Amino acid sequence: ALREADGLRRRIHNALEDLKGSIRVFCRIRPINKREKDLQDVDVTEIVDSMTVNTQKPSAGTIANEPEQFNFDAVFKPGTQAEVFDTCKDLVQSALDGYNVAMFAYGQTGAGKTFTMYGGAGDNAGTAPLTISELYRLIKQDEDRVQFTIMASMMELYRNELVDLLVPKSGGASPKRKSQNPGSAALEQKLNVRVDKSGAVQIEHLREEECKTAEALSDLLERGNQMRTVCATKMNSESSRSHLILIIRVVGVNKQTEQKLSGKILLCDLAGSERLKKSDVSGDAQKEAIEINKSLTALGDVMESLVKGAAHVPYKNHKLTQVMSDALGGTSKTLMFVNCSPASSNYEETVMTLKFATRAKTITNDVKRKMVAKSKAMPKA
Ligand code: ADP
Ligand code: MG
Repeated sequence: ALREADGLRRRIHNALEDLKGSIRVFCRIRPINKREKDLQDVDVTEIVDSMTVNTQKPSAGTIANEPEQFNFDAVFKPGTQAEVFDTCKDLVQSALDGYNVAMFAYGQTGAGKTFTMYGGAGDNAGTAPLTISELYRLIKQDEDRVQFTIMASMMELYRNELVDLLVPKSGGASPKRKSQNPGSAALEQKLNVRVDKSGAVQIEHLREEECKTAEALSDLLERGNQMRTVCATKMNSESSRSHLILIIRVVGVNKQTEQKLSGKILLCDLAGSERLKKSDVSGDAQKEAIEINKSLTALGDVMESLVKGAAHVPYKNHKLTQVMSDALGGTSKTLMFVNCSPASSNYEETVMTLKFATRAKTITNDVKRKMVAKSKAMPKA
């Protein structure tokens, strides 16, 4: 019986190790900005090493609060985009190998999610554009052996409604839409999610475009991003209040064996995780905030059950987790960026963010769990 228990323990340990490989959590701290400096904000984060960050609650008196420690698979100080991408670009190869990959950014508005996922011009290009370059570089490298087809779609999840960002929207009925769902013009581009028998996510009527070149895919991205801004303005909101989802499907056919592999890369710039503001106690802003909260809670619950190896993973709790379901768990590879502000004025949000992220890592590593649990200085959430 003892030997059996030992075997079981080892099996559980191995299963957990596998899972540890399948969910990576990278923490990124942005630089303190000018506005914060002008407001006498100080940096409350300290990067201890490449996997550890401390936060220190700002203290009113002379006695400093004890720092609280958080551990992740990687912690980045303000640095180059290339450095960050270097630690995750193997996921692009994984998609070509037939895996489903999800990379997404979590954090409060202004913490650096869009910078991380999309970035700026030149050297500031973020994960999505760098993924595109890497993808087409790898395809080219293998073109004698494998025929690849790349399909992409882009959508936004706003208040539990999925909106296609590749379908042009005009004021009323759109003559431009020779469409895949002509009957529902009035509904604009609201899409439904289904999961088929194999567990693959099907988004009904979602427009998907083949992109033969990196330029074509970059252009698609650009269009989607522009559409997101248009939609936000139309709905009298901000783009940071919706989740932006880009899906790149990769199908490779071996020219000799005709063996077919399909993988996909889902990139998501999540809506801001900040708590409901007191000023938003009514109306649309409140509904918006409640829905964001629901979706992010659903995402946290899914990750927690995956890490725990729970028999039931609650994908169905929100459209966000439904859309992501075939890229989270199972054999898929998942990377979560947790973006944080270093400023003392954002201390509470930063700690909330780090705790959310820790939930996705807690069970996989006992040492890490103990370190976080030990700290007494945790403010009440
Ligand atoms: P979010 O999408 O989370 O609301 P943004 O990505 O728009 O936040 O970032 C807010 C600001 O901070 C932007 O001006 C962005 O360029 C800057 N920023 C964010 N992260 C970094 C970073 N790691 N290095 C330099 N600047 C950053
Ligand atoms: Mg943003």
